[in-house]
Amino acid sequence: MFDAPRFRYHPDPVGTGSAVRSDEACDVCNRPAGLKYTGPVYGRQPEVLCLRCIADGTAAVSLGLPDGSQAEFTDVGWGVPDDVPKAVLEEISQRTPGFISWQQEHWLYHCADAAAFLGRVGWDDVRRLPDALASLRAELAQLGVDASAADEQVAAMHRDGDLTGYLFRCLHCGTHLAYSDAS
Ligand SMILES: [Zn+2]
Ligand SMILES: [Zn+2]
Repeated sequence: MFDAPRFRYHPDPVGTGSAVRSDEACDVCNRPAGLKYTGPVYGRQPEVLCLRCIADGTAAVSLGLPDGSQAEFTDVGWGVPDDVPKAVLEEISQRTPGFISWQQEHWLYHCADAAAFLGRVGWDDVRRLPDALASLRAELAQLGVDASAADEQVAAMHRDGDLTGYLFRCLHCGTHLAYSDAS
């Protein structure tokens, strides 16, 4: 394996579809990308961006906007518990690959930290994960979806469908967390 950077909060960006192997030159470092980022960029849009430049923070600076704000790869603007340190949010937004979701993607948090994003999931992936199911139901309840409609929505999730789940795991206690969204 070549010099693939490691991301605490997104351990397998190739597996989740946020990166693909590519020898194209990265716009930021001009080296062959190795792993080319395919997720969202909130900033100047690169043709090719490698994961190394996300990991070391150079992409956030170099793709920043004229007003001096750094580029972000995830919008962590809402749903963040008060006990999660600002440094964690900066690592998530500026030095961690994001992921594409149907609606605005967001991160999930547990034990005063960000959780690790494991990827898209369907009903078959989460049906035996009671903690993930509880998290999905709680999120839908918060949106005002009643319990039976929530159960129907969760059971209709497909990894590659119009209704998708996004699975996370707490780095401290191992609890699975998830949310769902529809196209
Ligand atoms: Zn690069
Ligand atoms: Zn936890």
